[in-house]
Amino acid sequence: MSTSSSISSPEELQSRTCKCGFMARYFTATTLENGGRRFYRCRRLGSNSCGYWNWIDDKSPRHVSTMIHNQKVELGSIRKERNHLKKIVEDMDGIEHSYLKDMTVDEILISLLAVSWVIIVGFVAAKMM
Ligand SMILES: [Zn+2]
Repeated sequence: MSTSSSISSPEELQSRTCKCGFMARYFTATTLENGGRRFYRCRRLGSNSCGYWNWIDDKSPRHVSTMIHNQKVELGSIRKERNHLKKIVEDMDGIEHSYLKDMTVDEILISLLAVSWVIIVGFVAAKMM
């Protein structure tokens, strides 16, 4: 699957062309086996790919690739949770907005006036005690 090379000089990070004649895409692996290892591969997927694959880095020590892989997995679940919470907040916003949408401006002002009166009366009553 790969022709391994182990050069990390800056000129090696320049674009490369795959056998299809396209610029190969640059990636950093996050697999358990090769976490943190940079490579180029054909930008086409599956059976359309010419199979071009070129590692830039040597294999990292096992504990490093494991750590990178685990962080990738953890980041994935944090993103998932964030999107879930985002959705909950959006739904809450939707409820709030539809509640306000049903009220006319006059109704909102009357509600605010009523609330302010309750506060003032409460404040005065508290002072008198
Ligand atoms: Zn290709």
